[in-house]
Amino acid sequence: MLLLGGKKKWNNWAGNQTSESFLYTPESEDQLIELIQLARDKKRNIRVVGSGHSFSSLVPTNDFIVDMKKFSGCIEFSKEESWAHFKSGTVLKDVNSFLFQNGQSLRNLGDVDVQTISGALATGTHGTGRRLPIISEDILEVTYVNGLGEIKTITENEPEKLQAFKVHLGLLGIITSIKVRTISSYKLHCVTKKMSLTSILKDFDRLTLKNRNFEFFWFPYTDYAQVKLMNETERKPDNKKISNWFNSIFLENLLYGFLIKLCMLFKSKIIFFSNLCIKFVSYSEKVDWSHQIYATPRWNKFCETEFSIPLEHIKPCLKKVREIIFKHKQLSIIPVEVRTVRQDNILLSPAFNRDSAYIAIHTPKGAEYRECYQEIERYMYEIGGRPHWGKISSLSLERCKKIYPQFEYFRRIRKDNDPEGIFLNKWTKELFI
Ligand SMILES: Cc1cc2nc3c(=O)[nH]c(=O)nc-3n(C[C@H](O)[C@H](O)[C@H](O)COP(=O)(O)OP(=O)(O)OC[C@H]3O[C@@H](n4cnc5c(N)ncnc54)[C@H](O)[C@@H]3O)c2cc1C
Repeated sequence: MLLLGGKKKWNNWAGNQTSESFLYTPESEDQLIELIQLARDKKRNIRVVGSGHSFSSLVPTNDFIVDMKKFSGCIEFSKEESWAHFKSGTVLKDVNSFLFQNGQSLRNLGDVDVQTISGALATGTHGTGRRLPIISEDILEVTYVNGLGEIKTITENEPEKLQAFKVHLGLLGIITSIKVRTISSYKLHCVTKKMSLTSILKDFDRLTLKNRNFEFFWFPYTDYAQVKLMNETERKPDNKKISNWFNSIFLENLLYGFLIKLCMLFKSKIIFFSNLCIKFVSYSEKVDWSHQIYATPRWNKFCETEFSIPLEHIKPCLKKVREIIFKHKQLSIIPVEVRTVRQDNILLSPAFNRDSAYIAIHTPKGAEYRECYQEIERYMYEIGGRPHWGKISSLSLERCKKIYPQFEYFRRIRKDNDPEGIFLNKWTKELFI
């Protein structure tokens, strides 16, 4: 018998998504099946939440929100065959430390590690690297409970279906476990420095091809960016605890948080504050195991929109983004993040069938962003942009059909798995029905 209690307020990390929902934390597959039956009987919807780090309207529902945090930990792994099988609610930080203790790691990661493995993979979470695909590309197998309450497993023996489960938005069922490909643990040498946007863009091909992971954070009211160049190394991890704390906590969170607050108070001084921020960017190096290098603490909350665009549009795109930010006097004190991703074959991946640059625009929590983001979004579609599923966009069904060549195939797979539509909330209903 399910004990659901009353409705409670749910909100995401950024606070831009909220709902009054029945929050449920199941402990077993049987409880999931029981909940699905209840939802079917009462014609209610179920959305699953990971760590609530998506900015888009994927999770909110006035019906059931299922938190899978009790489905946590590694089920089985093989170092020899390079795979590991995790329960779906395992947080990436725990995935990383388990793998590391066993000499393994994920091939690539984004810039935080607080998402759940299922949540990160559901929206096509990516890191950076011209030769590295989105993280979901390494999914080997998914086990889930579908909308009829049946437990199913999709493996590499059904390669086309598996491409739907690699970016699934929580629409195909409640994922209970995921098997991922791993690689041997590796260390990264990370160099951080200041470069002008002009010189980055002049040398963009070489920088992105020569470095395993290359990205930059550009302050759009200046011509400068902080670049990060990361490459594998055999060097020993350095033990720069104090300087790491100074850079990643003091400078990038505490002092920077203070500057963001000042900038919110004195909005007209955005150019001054942007130039001040860039003064704090200096040359630094560190060597550590990969998961320690990728993940950075993010204490200052923000809202974000992000688009994958065909790589060749990068220069005109950044010029246009700057124009739009200036026009709207957008409070872009948090830099524009630019990364690259290798193409894939995943039905709903923003990097489907083309090498991509990802451009992310951030706005401090509480600052207005709608009109600016809408204009950026319109422009991005003109150049073939596809929004990150976990970030702010105003995607429509018609747009999805245009930008995702395999959209109809995904819709069919969704309908087969959830014929009554119990895993749809308001937004996903608009997009998929
Ligand atoms: C500070 C910050 C930094 C970020 N950095 C990056 C980055 O570097 N790169 C990048 O690409 N993105 C990044 N993101 C976006 C983030 O990675 C994605 O939005 C991701 O999906 C969030 O994972 P989550 O565990 O919080 O899932 P949620 O946001 O809670 O859910 C995401 C989706 O997964 C579904 N879901 C979760 N668990 C299950 C399950 N068990 N079964 C079925 N469906 C499920 C949900 O229904 C929902 O549709 C960042 C976000 C923030 C706030």
